[in-house]
Amino acid sequence: MDVTTARERLEDMLVELDRSIGVLQGDPVAVREHSAADAGSDLTDADGAQAMLTVATAQRRAVIEAIKRVEEGVYGHCVDCGRPVPEGRLEARPEAARCVQCQGKRERRR
Ligand SMILES: [Zn+2]
Repeated sequence: MDVTTARERLEDMLVELDRSIGVLQGDPVAVREHSAADAGSDLTDADGAQAMLTVATAQRRAVIEAIKRVEEGVYGHCVDCGRPVPEGRLEARPEAARCVQCQGKRERRR
């Protein structure tokens, strides 16, 4: 995947994420209105929205960092070991900052 394509995909993802985050942040109001009729389910809905918001916010940050790497000309290289991130991985996750090995190491450390 060339850098121009990667950048376009990242920018599309950013627009999409901004929209999702906006909807999710607006959700508590909708949930509260809804819960007047159905008091039992509001907590679960709010928790779900909060969890999705956390995921979307983290992904948004990753996408912004990936766009920065495109601008710095280092996109597609693992931020830890500097080796090229495999094409297939970037196709699946254009915002990926690390190769599979480094990502695995990082996740095990947590
Ligand atoms: Zn690596």
